[in-house]
Amino acid sequence: MTTPLLTIALSKGRIFKETLPLLAAADIVPKDDPETSRKLILDTNDPQVKLVVIRATDVPTYVQYGGADVGVSGKDVLMEHGGEGLYEPLDLEIARCRLMVAGPVGFAAKSGRLRVATKFVETTRRFYAAKGEQVEIIKLYGSMELAPLVGLADCIVDLVDTGNTLKANGLEPVETIAEVSSRLVVNKASLKMKSARIKRLIQALQSAVETRRSSS
Ligand code: AMP
Repeated sequence: MTTPLLTIALSKGRIFKETLPLLAAADIVPKDDPETSRKLILDTNDPQVKLVVIRATDVPTYVQYGGADVGVSGKDVLMEHGGEGLYEPLDLEIARCRLMVAGPVGFAAKSGRLRVATKFVETTRRFYAAKGEQVEIIKLYGSMELAPLVGLADCIVDLVDTGNTLKANGLEPVETIAEVSSRLVVNKASLKMKSARIKRLIQALQSAVETRRSSS
C-alpha cells in the first residue's frame, strides 16, 4: 500500500522554530525556510509530507475542515476556537506562556462592571461567566497593554511570558486563566483514513518531547 500524503499546518515564527527539532526527530525536514520563502506549501525530505504555513489563528480551522491532516496550535488559540472537530493528542511543551488577566495596580478594587480588552473574546467571556461576573468585553487585535493606559478598558486578558511587557506599561498580572503551550491537533477523519502514518508521527513526536524534557 502506498503511504498517504500527510499535510501538517504550522504558523511562522516561534511555533515553527520550536516545532522544527521535533519534526526532525520524526524524520521530517522542510526543504524551504518559511521566513525567506514565499511558498505557502513547503516540501519536505519526505515526498509524502507537506507543510502548510498559515496564520496561527487559522491552524485549528484548517485542521478541522481537513485542509491539513494535523497541525501545531497554541492552547490559547485552541481555547478560543473551541476545539470542535479536532483531536488534541499531544502537548508539545513548546511556546509556553500564560493567558492572564492584567491591569493597573489596584484596578480590581473598582466597583461596577469591568471593561476588559482582549483578542481572546470567547475565552474571556467563558472565564468571567464561570465566576458569575458580568463584564464588558472590548475586542482588540493587538497591543492590548495600551487599552488601560488610555482609559479604553479597566484590564486586559493577554498572553504573558516574562511579564516584561506588562511591567514596561505599568501593569501587573492579576490572575491566570490558563497555562499555554503548543499542542498537536489532528483532523478526526484523517486519523481514521491515515491512521498508521499519523500514529507513527504522534509516537515520534511524543518520544522527542520526552527526550527533550528529560535532558532539560
Ligand atoms: P512578555 O513581555 O515576555 O511577558 O511577553 C508578552 C508579549 O509577548 C505579549 O504581547 C504576548 O502577546 C506575547 N507572547 C508571549 N508569549 C507568547 C506566546 N507563547 N505566543 C504568542 N505570543 C506570546
